[in-house]
Amino acid sequence: MRLLLLGGTSEASELARRLAGRADFEATLSLAGRTSRPAAYALPTRVGGFGGIEGLTRYLIDNRVEALIDATHPFAARMSANAVAAAEAAGVPLAVLTRPEWAPEAGDDWREVEYAAEAARALGEAPRRVFLTVGRLQAGAFRAAPQHHYVLRSIDAPEEPPPSVELVLARPPFSLDDELELMASRRIDMLVSKNSGGEATRAKLDAARRLKLPVVMIRRPPLAAQTVLYGVEDALGWIHGVAS
Ligand code: NAP
Repeated sequence: MRLLLLGGTSEASELARRLAGRADFEATLSLAGRTSRPAAYALPTRVGGFGGIEGLTRYLIDNRVEALIDATHPFAARMSANAVAAAEAAGVPLAVLTRPEWAPEAGDDWREVEYAAEAARALGEAPRRVFLTVGRLQAGAFRAAPQHHYVLRSIDAPEEPPPSVELVLARPPFSLDDELELMASRRIDMLVSKNSGGEATRAKLDAARRLKLPVVMIRRPPLAAQTVLYGVEDALGWIHGVAS
């Protein structure tokens, strides 16, 4: 059975490891090519966009793909929407492999917003020291709030960071001790995060709770796919179901 796995997440890497070397599946992993040093993957990998819905539809048909698994990041909304449309056009079963959202716990002070631009406004007028963890691509939205100092963590450097910035280039996972040390040493007074979910980056929320820091949390875009799986075991079960 021929599978296409849309990746760029730790869940995709884990599923790739589980599918690698199996005689009953011929799986290919697809990456957008955003990071300059992508992690090593266990499956044959293709890199770069497909060329929109039409390009992905053509890819699915030309490569006789029999099942499509969208294991992109919860904020990769365009790719996920394209996957829904292309899977339908090509008649290929599709499932999304994702992670549950984070939810606020007792002691948390979250201000939930829809977009990065709204998050920048939610920081307020008075200058703050902000730990910005929204990724390279959305960092530019914070140029609209230049009164704040940002400690901006991302895998690769952003092209258009806000003016007062310290870049911290690092790849998850991050531990609670590391997050506490980073936030305390930089005298952070506010955290900005996307609601990505998952374990690899959740320690920053635990650290913010301990330090009693407010969190501006960007909500997830809605999911269009019908079949949503919350773990690699579920994904393997779904794949076996399609194959049988
Ligand atoms: P996006 O805005 O939804 O996608 C933009 C375009 O990038 C897509 O239309 C597609 O181009 C191409 N693309 C995205 N994912 C792809 C994949 N797995 N394989 C081939 N092409 C892909 O996505 P994004 O937010 O830029 O994310 C890009 C990648 O980074 C994804 O793999 C995602 O899982 C990963 N990532 C994203 C975030 C985040 O916060 N957004 C965080 C961590 C990791 P075409 O239209 O030309 O096909």
